[in-house]
Amino acid sequence: MYIKQKEGWIEVITGPMFAGKTEELLRRIKRLEYAKHNIIVFKPTIDTRYEEGHVVSHDNNKTRSINITTAKQILDYVDRNTQVVAIDEVQFLDEEAVEICEYLADKGIRVIVSGLDRNFRGDEFSFMPRLLAIAEYVTKLSAICVKCHTPATRTQRIINGKPAKYDDPVILVGAKDTYEARCRDCHEVPNKPKRYKFLDEK
Ligand SMILES: [Zn+2]
Repeated sequence: MYIKQKEGWIEVITGPMFAGKTEELLRRIKRLEYAKHNIIVFKPTIDTRYEEGHVVSHDNNKTRSINITTAKQILDYVDRNTQVVAIDEVQFLDEEAVEICEYLADKGIRVIVSGLDRNFRGDEFSFMPRLLAIAEYVTKLSAICVKCHTPATRTQRIINGKPAKYDDPVILVGAKDTYEARCRDCHEVPNKPKRYKFLDEK
């Protein structure tokens, strides 16, 4: 007896910045390319940190990709011969990405996506919770906290050398902000509303 999974499922690679999400996505893509799988790689155009038409990791590993501005555009490139669809930085697409991923998986396509699970405030990143809920497989990677060197699950945003405030806008790719990996304890979000407190807190 053997166990074989039917084709069509969703894999999500998530975590903070500097955790190696794109690196892990590229590893899975390359493995499937060696096996001659019919694979299409997509990338939202908002992520212009690196060259156009390629998914590139921080250490300059890369593969060719198609730039898209809406999730629905994926359907313009997929046909019955497509076996794998990969999307880098999926959190920058519109929410229809969830329905598109579900549709592709239902059609027998292996869908592999990578994306941030939280924004710089430490809150969930738009539709990512929905995607994580419908995925068959979730790989949650951690980085290393630059302050205390324990596992980091958050992305610290810094503007002009100071921690970004809670009310600063979320998406600013390529702006003057810098980012760091931080753990729960070292992550700083000035002005974040406090909902609860202990008896002995002010
Ligand atoms: Zn820390």
